[in-house]
Amino acid sequence: MATYKAPTRDARFIVNEVLGLAGHGNLPGFETVTPDIVEAVLEEAGRFAGEVLAPLNASGDEEGCRRNPDGSVTTPAGFREAHRQFRDAGWGTLSAPEAFGGQGMPHVLGFAIEEFMSAANQAFAMYPGLTGGAVRALLAKGSPELQQRYVPKMVANEWLGTMNLTEPQCGTDLGLIRTRAEPRADGAYAITGTKIFISAGEHDLTDNIIHLVLARIAGAPEGTKGISLIVVPKVLVGDDGSLGERNAVSCGAIERKMGIHANSTCVMNYDGATGWLVGEENKGLAAMFIMMNAARLGVGIQGLSQADVAYQNAVSYARERRQGRALTGPTEPQEKADPLIVHADVRRMLMEAKAFIEGMRALTLWGGLQVELAEKAPTEQERQTADDLISLLTPVIKGYGTDKGFQTAVDMQQIWGGHGYIAENGMEQFVRDARIAMIYEGANGVQAMDLVGRKLAMNGGRAIQALFAMVDAECEAANAEARLQDLGGRVAKANGELKAATLWFMQNALAKPDNAGAGAYHYMHLMGIVVLGLMWLRMGRAACGALDAGSEERAFYEAKLVTARYFGERFTPDAGALRRKIESGADALMALPTDDFLF
Ligand SMILES: Cc1cc2nc3c(=O)[nH]c(=O)nc-3n(C[C@H](O)[C@H](O)[C@H](O)COP(=O)(O)OP(=O)(O)OC[C@H]3O[C@@H](n4cnc5c(N)ncnc54)[C@H](O)[C@@H]3O)c2cc1C
Repeated sequence: MATYKAPTRDARFIVNEVLGLAGHGNLPGFETVTPDIVEAVLEEAGRFAGEVLAPLNASGDEEGCRRNPDGSVTTPAGFREAHRQFRDAGWGTLSAPEAFGGQGMPHVLGFAIEEFMSAANQAFAMYPGLTGGAVRALLAKGSPELQQRYVPKMVANEWLGTMNLTEPQCGTDLGLIRTRAEPRADGAYAITGTKIFISAGEHDLTDNIIHLVLARIAGAPEGTKGISLIVVPKVLVGDDGSLGERNAVSCGAIERKMGIHANSTCVMNYDGATGWLVGEENKGLAAMFIMMNAARLGVGIQGLSQADVAYQNAVSYARERRQGRALTGPTEPQEKADPLIVHADVRRMLMEAKAFIEGMRALTLWGGLQVELAEKAPTEQERQTADDLISLLTPVIKGYGTDKGFQTAVDMQQIWGGHGYIAENGMEQFVRDARIAMIYEGANGVQAMDLVGRKLAMNGGRAIQALFAMVDAECEAANAEARLQDLGGRVAKANGELKAATLWFMQNALAKPDNAGAGAYHYMHLMGIVVLGLMWLRMGRAACGALDAGSEERAFYEAKLVTARYFGERFTPDAGALRRKIESGADALMALPTDDFLF
């Protein structure tokens, strides 16, 4: 039976010592977040994740969701009670705005908690998971009346939100949306169409579900320029906030699928359902992007979370399971065999996981800080830089984070050998659950295209130049610290490969767009290595500082420096290979006629 313990010490290290949250006390919401408060919040969230959510992970997977003949959906045993506790404890409101009943705490803490909840039980965490993004979209684009009607209940997690983009003929290409929104005399719209694969589209956790739906208003331009965003409640809400009639939206089916069995993935039928426009007509995609960007960061966190829970269980197993002897001779001669953890190849997988997980945790929490700074930093310049950086890195957090997260889950399953393949041990569930994160919220190949095709060129390359400069400065600083010099040199070299690859795109992709398409995926991974390197340099600096200050937690900080060294030696060399793949261009990749792929 798999177990989970939230990595609260590591999260505190990043929040307090690497990001220095207390040093941002001038930002609204940060004044009260002292290291004591950070510790209390993380410990309590970790306890909830480990004690309430983790025990429901395997049982929820086995039982799955059930659609009843009347179209209602029953979640697995224990989910309703767990959600009641989640809501009452205020976990969903932590970083939501105070004006709408939230606690107004920094997103950094919200992200840390999201990781814990998702690691303990990804399928559960997905029910409240999209609500925060829906709230952001409503607050940015919705009318004050719509905000008052829906947002407080959503912030309180009394109602949960969903995201409705996908249709049978329309996945990545949202220009193909057919769902119709017909204006009615009372100012509302009648929504008709079918959405598929809608996460948490129907369930029994809350009395109401607030669907954000992309639809086309009659006469709208073709393609993505003719899409509007509509809010459609499952149950209509009266002017006094009371629940009224059931709206004409229903769950037609729930999908049987590879993983996240306990999260209902629904076919949603809109049969003239009543909805209200969010923002302007035909500007729905921009509004939905607010929700999608939040969701993409959340999906990156899912990649991290499944990697971490799988890693924890692999470490325990590698310490207990005895097979063979260490190459250097028995480490425990009194036993018949040594534990798996003595073997270099097992450690290769564990160290790869540790270096990714801790680097990725730092990256997601740093990302949370950028979200905050983009909104609240005191100067326009600071807000702009933070916005540039988080826009640039959202596809990397999502794409690189979930690719590596899945690979890590597979490696951790490998450490369990054949026992990892057996369902009752729980490792194969992590692999199944981690897989979806590479697909939804924009498949990872599409994330890579977004990075290379849109984000690099944004504002004349301002964001990528800011990243280059930030990494260079960190590498330069590492030169002054003997314990980080080697890592600094390696990250600087990887950054050089990233710069060269960026230049190559500038010189070769405009005239021949397939060169961008062919190299984008490798570029996303190359940038992933560079930004994780940046995080390892910062964590290394914090660890050196703590050791020099005589910290009593020497083992914790020394482990950071060992892992930083591993990262430098084993992750950064891939940067050169990735650059060479990018520079090989699209010729061989595009040469084969479409009929010649199968003989
Ligand atoms: C469990 C689950 C939950 C989901 N939850 C939601 C949800 O809550 N709300 C929602 O709206 N949707 C949801 N989805 C849908 C999901 O976001 C889509 O499956 C995803 O966006 C990809 O669309 P598609 O499946 O149609 O694949 P397609 O768009 O057909 O793409 C197939 C493959 O082709 C590649 N590809 C497509 N276009 C291009 C291109 N232009 N350039 C390069 N490569 C390309 C893609 O990367 C992908 O690998 C969910 C899906 C699943 C399976």
